[in-house]
Amino acid sequence: MAKIINVVKGTKDILPQDAPMWHLLEKNALDIFTKYGYKEIRTPIFEVTELFARGVGDTTDIVNKEMYTFEKSDRSLTLRPENTAGVVRSYIENSMSRLSAPVKLWYKGPMFRYERPQAGRQRQFHQVGVEMFGVKDATADAEVILLAVNYLKSLGLNDLEVEINSLGCPECREVYKNKIKEVLKPEFDNLCEDCQNRYEKNPLRLLDCKVDSCKEIFEKPEIKAVIKSDFICESCAGHYSKLKSYLDELDVKYIENKLLVRGLDYYNRTVFEIKSNNLGSQNAVCGGGRYDSLVKNLGGEDTPAIGWAMGMERLISLIPTIEPKKLDGYIVSNSPADAFKLASELRDAGLVVEFDLQNKKFTKQLEKASKVANYAFILGEDEVKNNMVSVKNLSTSTQKQLDRKQLWSEYKNV
Ligand code: ATP
Ligand code: MG
Repeated sequence: MAKIINVVKGTKDILPQDAPMWHLLEKNALDIFTKYGYKEIRTPIFEVTELFARGVGDTTDIVNKEMYTFEKSDRSLTLRPENTAGVVRSYIENSMSRLSAPVKLWYKGPMFRYERPQAGRQRQFHQVGVEMFGVKDATADAEVILLAVNYLKSLGLNDLEVEINSLGCPECREVYKNKIKEVLKPEFDNLCEDCQNRYEKNPLRLLDCKVDSCKEIFEKPEIKAVIKSDFICESCAGHYSKLKSYLDELDVKYIENKLLVRGLDYYNRTVFEIKSNNLGSQNAVCGGGRYDSLVKNLGGEDTPAIGWAMGMERLISLIPTIEPKKLDGYIVSNSPADAFKLASELRDAGLVVEFDLQNKKFTKQLEKASKVANYAFILGEDEVKNNMVSVKNLSTSTQKQLDRKQLWSEYKNV
């Protein structure tokens, strides 16, 4: 026997039995995002590497450790690790700033990160996400969070925790960063290697560290006091309190988490995550925030923006499995030509039907029908002659002959 080739580590097939759950996620996304005024955008799965280096930030784990990068014709290309950078590139390239603001875009699709595969973490995974361009006000922040919560509700996920924080603007954050560095200086040698590397480049990221020894350091009273201090300037504080009052009015429950800094470099002011207690350590289903400088940094006009992304595999692990549906009908006939014709008529009328393609005996076909379908549509010689079909309800075993023309509208009464 020839050697079997397996799926690549960290990637998974989405098998037919799982497809209904993916369809549900995608259908609800289309329905709900459309109601909120979002249009779908589909950008390529690979982009030039520089887009992510500049657009995600070269101090992030994503860019430093997790990218699938390859060379082709002397160009460095990368499989997208996330989609905000690609959407922003497209927004700029297609002059969407000329459209009337807000420009609201949504996407779904695979992302690629070279991470250690484990529960809730794959190397190819899927995200559904939204981006809103052109609104500085906290109304936008509240609306995108509300949209995330309502999308989750549509999937039956009502009890997830929304965490919010404000990272301030580059000016007030600079002061905070320096304070954090100062108070952690005496502990530098006790920090993990990653934190030591982040100390100069991106000190806020330290707060996000999952290593226990680092978490303990951040709990020390003098350090905690600095971490938890209110550092944001008046204008950022005004934005943040407006967001909170909108969320209160919209009845969106949230928890304020000062340690929520998010991995990406480009965020300012509002950041948020939505977490589930049923996911173990990979517990975030949604991450997002405001990124007012990104469009400009990637060469576009100065445009405020905000968005989020959800991990679709993590969402699917939280919703109940959808049982595959039975066929509406299975045609039982000794004449493939007649079965073909009837199948076409019924499929055109919107029914999901199958028939025997393997010349099986009549009784075998009936057996199959009772396993896979709700109704058997029986086409014996008599039926064909009289232009009738015998319809058997396979759960009640009742049977009735119906006129072929009225079949599809009447079969459910049998
Ligand atoms: P995490 O803290 O889990 O690493 P992240 O901050 O790297 O998340 P984001 O870049 O914010 O993740 O992506 C948004 C969402 O995408 C996450 O909340 C998660 O649901 C999902 N996600 C991210 N990385 C993976 C992965 N490797 N496998 C599966 N889902 C993922
Ligand atoms: Mg990550």
